[in-house]
Amino acid sequence: MPDRIAVIGAGQMGNGIAHVFAQNGFDVTMVDVSDAALARGRSTIEKNLDRQVKKGTLDAAAREATLGRLTSATDIGAIGDAALVVEAATENVELKYRIFGDMDRLAAPGAILASNTSSISITDIAARTSRPELVIGMHFMNPVPVMQLVEVIRGLATSDATTQRVLELAAAVGKTPVEVNDFPGFVANRILLPMINEAVFALMEGVGTVEAIDTVMKLGMNHPMGPLALADLIGLDTCLAILEVLHAGLGDSKYRPCPLLRKYVAAGWLGRKSGRGFHRYA
Ligand code: NAD
Repeated sequence: MPDRIAVIGAGQMGNGIAHVFAQNGFDVTMVDVSDAALARGRSTIEKNLDRQVKKGTLDAAAREATLGRLTSATDIGAIGDAALVVEAATENVELKYRIFGDMDRLAAPGAILASNTSSISITDIAARTSRPELVIGMHFMNPVPVMQLVEVIRGLATSDATTQRVLELAAAVGKTPVEVNDFPGFVANRILLPMINEAVFALMEGVGTVEAIDTVMKLGMNHPMGPLALADLIGLDTCLAILEVLHAGLGDSKYRPCPLLRKYVAAGWLGRKSGRGFHRYA
């Protein structure tokens, strides 16, 4: 009998994480503070499963079985019977600390507490709990059902047993886990976000238009999407939050967020999720 998984946050990452666990035979509880977010999360999973059925990578019975393994709750108390809780709430340090306090209090003894954070220190989060050896980073990529990588981040106190179990669980949902250590931005965002930030500086300084910058990187560097389109996919608020963590955590001015990125976030132009970022979305 596979373990039950709980996912905190039903946004773009949370519903994707819930999707891949449910599709691979795990019972999944999705928790969000917002009923609307839970409904949106479930409907996104339905649409993504439909797409898989249409493409012939999943049959209709597996689609139904996947949806049958998914439940939702607005009360975080619903995580009590999970062997693994994956937190994928908004990228905000104080919020994560508070949620991990609740997870520590409400999860079963021995349950692993993972964060999908893009940049916040796993060591710091773990220190807010009574079980730092069971706290780990499980950083899925967007869109979760499609992307192969899970960056598995060991905090200073994360045990070998916890790491091993999480590597196994990532493999059990068809992903390729890569183990890294806990430094600001880990590996993925330490390298990706300075590139995105530089693209925003290039736009601000008039070096090129949005289309020019994205096309140069697509055709010139063979990137599947341009850095500004990728920033829109990630969410500009999330990009800004990651850059703040890199800047504060590494103390080097080369990580300072571009003022134009701040302006877009202040305007509520957050990328795809709000219909407008560097590009416009229907
Ligand atoms: P999102 O804005 O789409 O979703 C966040 C969700 O968290 C919302 O539904 C919100 O209602 C919910 N939430 C807020 N407070 C909560 C609480 N106290 N309890 C339960 N739910 C709560 O954000 P996202 O893009 O899904 O990002 C989630 C996490 O994943 C962040 O830590 C982010 O850094 C990380 N991440 C994002 C990406 C990406 O490309 N967007 C990639 C990898 C990791």
